[in-house]
Amino acid sequence: MKNCAIVGINWGDEGKGRMVDLLTEDYDIVVRYQGGGNAGHTVVNDKGKFALHLLPSGILRPGVVNILGNGVALDPENLWAEMEDVRSKGVAITPENLKISDRASLLLPWHRDLDALEEQRLGDKKYGSTKQGIAPFYSDKYQKKTILAGELFYPDELRAHLEDLLEWKDLTLTRVYGSKPYTAEELLSWLRQYGEAIMPFVCDTGAYLKEAQAAGKNILFEAQLGALRDLDYGIYPYTTSSNTLAAYAPIGAGLPSLKLTEVIGVVKAYSTCVGEGPFVSEMSGAEADRLREAGAEYGAKTGRARRVGALDLVATRFGVETQGATKLALTKLDVLSYMEKIPVCVRYRVGGAETDRFPFPAELNSAEPVIEYRDGWGCDISGIRRWEDLPDAARAYVTRIEEAVNCPIAYISVGPERESIILR
Ligand code: GDP
Repeated sequence: MKNCAIVGINWGDEGKGRMVDLLTEDYDIVVRYQGGGNAGHTVVNDKGKFALHLLPSGILRPGVVNILGNGVALDPENLWAEMEDVRSKGVAITPENLKISDRASLLLPWHRDLDALEEQRLGDKKYGSTKQGIAPFYSDKYQKKTILAGELFYPDELRAHLEDLLEWKDLTLTRVYGSKPYTAEELLSWLRQYGEAIMPFVCDTGAYLKEAQAAGKNILFEAQLGALRDLDYGIYPYTTSSNTLAAYAPIGAGLPSLKLTEVIGVVKAYSTCVGEGPFVSEMSGAEADRLREAGAEYGAKTGRARRVGALDLVATRFGVETQGATKLALTKLDVLSYMEKIPVCVRYRVGGAETDRFPFPAELNSAEPVIEYRDGWGCDISGIRRWEDLPDAARAYVTRIEEAVNCPIAYISVGPERESIILR
């Protein structure tokens, strides 16, 4: 019986979806335990190219049961659109292979409105939200002002609950932001359309997982974003509004007493960061453009150009430690093949002194990277499948990272396709 979490070590977009897609072969169940449709996993396999936002990546493997846990931000409208899109490419989605926790809170249309209104109010000081409603959603959840998916089965109570929330939310929409209020009818009709569509999938996923655990099933926990975006431990306030750490997996999945047996941290061979906030090893100008093009670094959800930079060993070590990673997957090593010399950020300079320690968020703005240059390998490595066949310089790059972050790199990805992987 395996309980493994696959998590991001950096700012997100490390290629977790690609790793989950690869590893689901050994698992019976894949659970998404936090976040919403605000990020995207891109998975390429024999059925085509998929941009998954909320659906667990195991949906692409026949026989795998996928769960959206209580910790996710469940937007029925966007989930339904995603389900239709994936189905249109020939993937079956049924209540047998997708189960939604009855304790997951619903992300309602006003959460998306409030996200956009707040970014507009912030102007130049904006956080770079994807405007999917995630921050207003999680604030409401903590205020105990959301609807649980399971309430869809109790229409009378649901209407009364919704009317209470509406009265309160319309005050914020109209008085704080001068925006339009919602009516109960609008919301009920939205729920009839999208809530009813997902109802066949909603069940007590905690009970299902408990039984699965007792039966010795292998469970994979899939996170969104990365350690540096964790609400409690990341680069606050440029974090997301949920916990991206492996430690949260049992809680957000629905099995709070579960112990993880393995944590696979996904690290990209260079750095990327979407949105605002400090990014110490950031590149600029032509150097950045070249890397962005080579790595096709554009957001899966928004199409936004990602900020790019040198691999940051300070942030990566911090990510490995906070995630409690037991092994690592290094992705996109092939992208660096064009570089003659590869920059790596090995330490930060903060307040005139060099440090290995990832600093408190307020210190990050003034931190400068200390760069070491590694030899490039000068050839295409995307067809290589064995560690021994990698050029010496590429192996030296991998072992440099491993030693610096004190965690073994067990997988090296050299292309987006399922088979473009080197196992060590
Ligand atoms: P995630 O959210 O962590 O799953 O990351 P994204 O899906 O946003 O970003 C990863 C992107 O890189 C996707 O477009 C993948 O298809 C692609 N990708 C993943 N691994 C590799 C790799 O080893 N090499 C190359 N060239 N592309 C990769």
